[in-house]
Amino acid sequence: MIVVMDLRATEEQVKAVDKRLEELGFKTHLIRGVERLVIGAIGDRKQILNSGIEIMPGVEKLVPIMKPFKLVSRDVKLEDTVIRVRDFDIGAKEITVIAGPCAVESREQLMETAKLVARAGAKAIRGGTYKPRTSPYSFQGMEEDGLQLLAEAGRETGLATITEVIDEKSLGLAVNYVDIIQIGARNMQNFQLLRAAGRIRKPVVLKRGLSATMEEWLMAAEYIMSEGNYNVILCERGIRTFENYTRNTLDLSAVPLIKQLSHLPVIVDPSHATGEWRLVPPLSKGAVAVGADGLLVEVHPDPVTALCDGPQSLTPENFRVLMEELGPVANSVGRDI
Ligand code: PEP
Ligand code: MN
Repeated sequence: MIVVMDLRATEEQVKAVDKRLEELGFKTHLIRGVERLVIGAIGDRKQILNSGIEIMPGVEKLVPIMKPFKLVSRDVKLEDTVIRVRDFDIGAKEITVIAGPCAVESREQLMETAKLVARAGAKAIRGGTYKPRTSPYSFQGMEEDGLQLLAEAGRETGLATITEVIDEKSLGLAVNYVDIIQIGARNMQNFQLLRAAGRIRKPVVLKRGLSATMEEWLMAAEYIMSEGNYNVILCERGIRTFENYTRNTLDLSAVPLIKQLSHLPVIVDPSHATGEWRLVPPLSKGAVAVGADGLLVEVHPDPVTALCDGPQSLTPENFRVLMEELGPVANSVGRDI
């Protein structure tokens, strides 16, 4: 249920309604739009009907939310959510490009990449330090040493930092080092991890699961938001299909569709979607053209020797060219980069 507060409702009136909802057993979320404030009330809808909430001072109306996802839904918030990170916004007019290696491998590798992607116009450096690998024998990541390097790269370049967490332990560590937390495709339905990410206040990039429907993906975001962290960014990274020329199939329709259903920012990862660096530039442009708020692109100073995902990584020079080419595409859809 959403309790829509009157435009002129005072803070005291909001507090009184919030308190009454809690007494009735609802978990409440105050959602401030540009125009007005609504209170998302999660609980047994029947409890609200004869509760007197509707006639409390400051209440305009009660609106039931029919969709299974509530806080994520456009029904609770008409305007796009904009998430502030360091000195930039995700979900505003400017497209946010996050770039960097699949995995942090060494100080030299990370610093070189960070400097070059910063110069090309990236806003954040990515780098996996806990890698969820298909094989237990593959490189699993530098763990906390890698987190320290990411923090150092962020300090040196002014870039924001993002890394993937795979469990509550790595989340607990990463949150001390990076600006943005990533939950990967393989953990999209790790509900304990989602809840834990809901208890932090840093932005969370939630990747779409390998075979997740839009609704499952939005419900995963709902888990995070239901714990009070409203800073969720959805990332389309390709889904499993019968096609095997590409690693996955990039579902670009997810971008405009999710934007209809939800107020959250949506970014696209063309690297994991295709597994092939030559396909990254055209699909990056396609993603921006269909309304993505940002891109997550793998860049490695020497893809041939990369410990992880070399074939899909752009060289810094190819990334620089891509950034230049993205400018006119962004402008054509009313965005900047
Ligand atoms: C990654 O971004 O390094 C990654 C493992 O991506 P995904 O979870 O989308 O496979
Ligand atoms: Mn990767």
